[in-house]
Amino acid sequence: MSLVPMRQILDEAAKGGYGVGAFNVNNMEQIQAIMQAAHDTASPVIIQASRGALKYSKMIYLKKLMEAAAEEFPHIPVAMHLDHGNSIATLKEAIDLGFTSVMMDGSLAEDGKTPNTYEQNVAITKQAVELAHPLGVTVEGELGCLGGIEDGHGAGLSDEEVASHLTDPAQAEDFVAKTGLDALAVAIGTSHGAYKSGRKDPKTGEILPPALAMERIHEIHKRMPNCHMVMHGSSSVPKELVDLINQYGGKMPGTFGIPISEIQDGIKHGVRKINVDTDSRLAITGAIRKVFVEHPEKFDPRDYLKPAREAAYHVYVDRMKAFGQAGHAGDYKQMTLEDMKKVYGR
Ligand SMILES: [Zn+2]
Repeated sequence: MSLVPMRQILDEAAKGGYGVGAFNVNNMEQIQAIMQAAHDTASPVIIQASRGALKYSKMIYLKKLMEAAAEEFPHIPVAMHLDHGNSIATLKEAIDLGFTSVMMDGSLAEDGKTPNTYEQNVAITKQAVELAHPLGVTVEGELGCLGGIEDGHGAGLSDEEVASHLTDPAQAEDFVAKTGLDALAVAIGTSHGAYKSGRKDPKTGEILPPALAMERIHEIHKRMPNCHMVMHGSSSVPKELVDLINQYGGKMPGTFGIPISEIQDGIKHGVRKINVDTDSRLAITGAIRKVFVEHPEKFDPRDYLKPAREAAYHVYVDRMKAFGQAGHAGDYKQMTLEDMKKVYGR
């Protein structure tokens, strides 16, 4: 079976009232772990690659791995998505490679650092839709800016800048109408990576996880009940995974994630795609460190990559169950890009 357009997965998720994890990958082990988890939980799934991942894996390798994944598990609907595309040229490259979905992150300029104006964002996102839809390819856009580091994306923004670039619900309505995109990434105070900015409890002085502006998601959903929203930077950064890394020689200082309960609240209000990258990185690193410390005599990469793959698998299974996608793989007849072309052409 071929890869399905991401739009179909989002539409089905909306119908079923669940969210779908979009997991970032760089290599074979992550793709295998995701597919095994999707198979074991009967989940539709989105696999995504950032520009950094494409550079690391040299594009063609990632494409072939994705094709292998779709071939091994033909009953699992899987979409291949470009995360944080920064220019029309990058989107073209991804579409030529066979991606069934692309993100045009017009919230920032092509350098991935400077915030674009609203008008610039509308113009480039619209251009992305005009390129992708005639080919049946899904488009995700972003309104508002996220902080943190994702292959350098948004890395230059200060906490204050991020706070002043949260998604405005009224503007979101205008943005969706003007661009015609399929999925809207919202900025509600999440950031990329494991080191999310915390906030101080005014009473105890304790550092708490970032406060999320969930009410903006509620408001956008109220205004546009059919709009599929995307939460970026939504790893939960489980303490036990960070502890394992540190137990075996790692040095990760205080970290924060997004509580699963907040994500589930988002799913109740129109969030259909949840981006998770850091959690699988943590699981993989912890597993490898453990082998290195406990078995310093080992040198076969399989001795540590196999436990790493297993550790990532458990993260994916947990997320698929928590987001509600588990059990839904067989609900629908998988579409192709050709089928989707006709839907957009209507
Ligand atoms: Zn992101």
